[in-house]
Amino acid sequence: MDAGSIPATSTKYIMHVLHILSDAIKPLIMTIAGVLSTISLIAVAIFMLCLSSESIASDYQSNYEVLPAVNKSPIRVGTWALTPTVIVCDHAPVSKHQVLKAITYWKDLGHRFYSTQYKHDPLNKCRNSMPIGYVVIHLVSNTSKMEETSLAETHFFVNNDSGRIEWAKIYLKSDVRETVLEHEIGHALGYLHHDKINHMMNSKWMYGGWDSDGLKNN
Ligand SMILES: [Zn+2]
Repeated sequence: MDAGSIPATSTKYIMHVLHILSDAIKPLIMTIAGVLSTISLIAVAIFMLCLSSESIASDYQSNYEVLPAVNKSPIRVGTWALTPTVIVCDHAPVSKHQVLKAITYWKDLGHRFYSTQYKHDPLNKCRNSMPIGYVVIHLVSNTSKMEETSLAETHFFVNNDSGRIEWAKIYLKSDVRETVLEHEIGHALGYLHHDKINHMMNSKWMYGGWDSDGLKNN
């Protein structure tokens, strides 16, 4: 599932789930998906060329719309009012190195973080249900309703009036795969899914990667 909202409140509640398939079939699927996406883009490009030579403008438009939205930029639904502090809670299954690497990925794209506190939480933000000003990273609990196929979830609040993100909570399962923490921090920064092959914000881990197209902070 991608994102949902609770319109009854003044804030938007956004949650996401990163799906997964087994490692064994990832290379195969990636190859097939890559080939298919290349073929479909070429096919549509040729089709458009044929239409344009016959000057059928309306058909051109409607056929253009069926292209997958891979060429559009990722959608960002909010920005932080205050530069957020990242807190890694006690049982969160990530090393300090993993966290700093993920933070650096986003800093290199122009995003800012006030500080990163690794398993140091003097203000008890890890127990706060709405940790305003913080990105809090948890180990998913046994009582969570996270789907079995999910690797992680990020929950964040955007104030509809201001368009500002107020807080974010990331829940990780114990085996944190490459790009998962970076992907979740992307949600915490307000980005929704962008299903381009190899893209950081791809909704499916197996199709994702390090592509940061459209993720620069302007
Ligand atoms: Zn996601």
